Amino acid sequence: MFTCRLPRLTRHYSVASSLKVANSFIDAIGNTPLIRLKRLSEETGSDILGKAEFMNPGGSVKDRAALFVVKEAEERGKLKEGGTVVEGTAGNTGIGLAHVCRSKGYKCVIYMPNTQSQEKIDLLRMLGAEVYPVPAVAFENPENYNHQARRHAEKLPNAVWTNQFDNIANRRAHLETTGPEIWEQTGGLVDGFTCSTGTGGTLAGVTRFLKEKNPKIKSFIADPPGSVLYNYFKSGGKVLNERSGSSITEGIGQGRVTTNLQQDVELIDDALYISDEKSIEMVYRLLDEEGLYVGASTALNVVAAAEMAKILGPGKKIVTVLCDGAYRYQSRLFSRQWLKSKDLLHAIPEHLQKYIVL
Ligand code: PMP
Repeated sequence: MFTCRLPRLTRHYSVASSLKVANSFIDAIGNTPLIRLKRLSEETGSDILGKAEFMNPGGSVKDRAALFVVKEAEERGKLKEGGTVVEGTAGNTGIGLAHVCRSKGYKCVIYMPNTQSQEKIDLLRMLGAEVYPVPAVAFENPENYNHQARRHAEKLPNAVWTNQFDNIANRRAHLETTGPEIWEQTGGLVDGFTCSTGTGGTLAGVTRFLKEKNPKIKSFIADPPGSVLYNYFKSGGKVLNERSGSSITEGIGQGRVTTNLQQDVELIDDALYISDEKSIEMVYRLLDEEGLYVGASTALNVVAAAEMAKILGPGKKIVTVLCDGAYRYQSRLFSRQWLKSKDLLHAIPEHLQKYIVL
């Protein structure tokens, strides 16, 4: 008989105390790492840190909100066993909801603007959601995806429209989880936070938590083309212009001040406008410099973090959000033809064009 001897370990491996068995998909949401963006930190002389929300089990920052809006519906008795969750979403909240619904045994119905990537629609269907891509019309129009979702839920028994834009359980997810995590991970030494907004849940919830801990922390909203919020904040809340133009970033930019954002609107110190040229260049830079494969809203957030660092001066600690991975958009962001159609090929420096493989 052979006796098998295990080799002796010559070094000790340490395991983070937070690593434990998650009892379900839901238990694995949150507690994401903060990743130092080395090159941008060197360039700005500040510590630029990205909250790696793409590491949530459903792949985006919206897993947190999805869980909180479902829990809220359950607690209020609006969702019972065998029920249906209906939501209007650019995709990520829907993907988070589809996961949470599968995990808890609910049905999931998603309305989304038909301008969003095919990858998100496919993934939602693979997760068992019923998906309705509808024409992308303004919120004021009754055919907007959110109103269609509400009407769908109203017609079904035991169904709830989770209403992520105006349901402040969304902001609470970030007030109770994302914000405290950032505070703890930075040892309370964070100087600035910036991110873009779709519903505004992330920006509002994180900003509120951090400013309650230390009112000196600055918070900037980062806004893409076609959104009204940059002008709104720059005019001190006076100008809410008509939405015009569009952006390659998906899931962010807004035509109104949502109820989630409204909660903490007075806590936002400044606004940054980030062009699509800068965002797409950063998608490729993050891949090349940091090995991060992220979507365009993440890239926009990182550009904003670097701009915030320049405004606040060197020696600061700036945190932003790495919302999701590029997998959800790769047929667009890494396609030469698509980039050309958006007139963005020129924004990608020569030495980074090797990554355009589609
Ligand atoms: N980035 C992406 C890719 C998103 O899908 C979303 C949400 N739609 C956001 C950022 C913005 O998050 P929030 O809704 O919390 O403002």
